[in-house]
Amino acid sequence: MRTAFWKSMSSLRKLTTEILVIGSGAAGMAAAASASASGVSVLIIDDRSVPGGILPQCVHKGFGLGRYGKEMTGPEYGREEYHALEHSSAVYMPDTRALSIGVDRSAVITGRSGMAEVSFSECIIATGCTERPLWSLPVSGTRPDGIYTAGEAQEMTELSSYDVGSRIFILGSGDIGQIMARRFVQLGKTVIGMAEQNDHLGGMKRNQEECIEAYSIPVMLRATVTEIHGFPHLTGVTVHHIDTGNDELIECDTLITALGLEPDRSLAEGLETDDGYPDWLHFCGNADFVHEIADSASAQGEKLGRDLASHIQRSRKEV
Ligand SMILES: Cc1cc2nc3c(=O)[nH]c(=O)nc-3n(C[C@H](O)[C@H](O)[C@H](O)COP(=O)(O)OP(=O)(O)OC[C@H]3O[C@@H](n4cnc5c(N)ncnc54)[C@H](O)[C@@H]3O)c2cc1C
Repeated sequence: MRTAFWKSMSSLRKLTTEILVIGSGAAGMAAAASASASGVSVLIIDDRSVPGGILPQCVHKGFGLGRYGKEMTGPEYGREEYHALEHSSAVYMPDTRALSIGVDRSAVITGRSGMAEVSFSECIIATGCTERPLWSLPVSGTRPDGIYTAGEAQEMTELSSYDVGSRIFILGSGDIGQIMARRFVQLGKTVIGMAEQNDHLGGMKRNQEECIEAYSIPVMLRATVTEIHGFPHLTGVTVHHIDTGNDELIECDTLITALGLEPDRSLAEGLETDDGYPDWLHFCGNADFVHEIADSASAQGEKLGRDLASHIQRSRKEV
């Protein structure tokens, strides 16, 4: 594999590849490695400095059982996947963001040295997912610091050693929230509780057992946060109990939200018509649908890369 950067950017540089893969998480790496192993040219870009997408911040075990037959951490799993990419002929550009995709099968990208335009035959969007923010809910009160999505808190804690706070309340019971609840207890913080509007916790059963039950995290079902207190720092939240109508003030310095994940398809905005997306545009991994396990995102990417490479090779023979 080659790691490529372009040199002079005085004018928009032109690059050409048969397959452009946007995102080097579990899905994108597998797609790029399998496509290039099938003999087509592949360019894979990612706006982060290291490959793996969210894998480097998932320091807990629970990855790779299906794909490698052993339990690994996210970084270990990511290294295995990167190994295959590294030994392929795909060109990998870190620190490089796709800004837009045009109907003429081109993408504008920007990286360390400026902008470039990439022409491609097929494009794979493997950009992962976004977290639903607190402000999408009808929440009143102040807008202080101390409020993070679970993914942000995980990234800051695991990759930047940032101390988010010491008295933590969690709204929503998605997998990342449950994993972070356990992590905060392990770090010696007080997890005051987790509020969930439904009458049951979200996420995988495994996480409920290993993170919530095993660490005795207090759970409030049929409850939500309706008001934020404190400025400039968070001092508390009002928890509304849906069935009784009672409100309860919880004092905390950190609010973590785990309200759900949504595929990030922002790059494809404007490309969809009544007939759907163009036939050269493909989604995989969490950009297609939210995968509970990385193995599934990798498997989908691997198959897509292989199928697209076969399609390109058939087209070459017809020319
Ligand atoms: C907290 C958490 C815990 C998990 N625990 C487990 C577990 O225990 N076991 C398990 O098997 N799975 C687990 N998963 C699920 C699994 O990790 C994911 O489903 C999988 O890794 C998603 O891979 P992806 O490639 O689709 O997306 P991502 O890993 O999100 O990769 C997308 C990449 O695209 C990049 N990108 C986005 N937009 C652009 C752009 N415009 N230009 C360039 N690059 C861009 C992003 O920066 C990112 O690097 C967990 C997930 C989370 C969030």
